[in-house]
Amino acid sequence: MRLYNHTIRPSCSRNKVTTLIKIVAYTSQTCPYCGQRKKAKDQTYQCTCGYTAHRDRVGAINIMRQPVADGNSLSA
Ligand SMILES: [Zn+2]
Repeated sequence: MRLYNHTIRPSCSRNKVTTLIKIVAYTSQTCPYCGQRKKAKDQTYQCTCGYTAHRDRVGAINIMRQPVADGNSLSA
């Protein structure tokens, strides 16, 4: 966040570029179907609810669904 706040954000602001922040913690460990958190033992994420997918796909789905913070506000 320090790099973003002190370097990237001011530069983007000067150049009228919109920035988005997404927190990626636990995105590949959270089931996109039921929300249960479980660490994948290998490349395949298998939830107890039955959802199964490659863990990178699980992470991408969860990142896509996260709210976006632009440094000033939050939106869905
Ligand atoms: Zn699940």
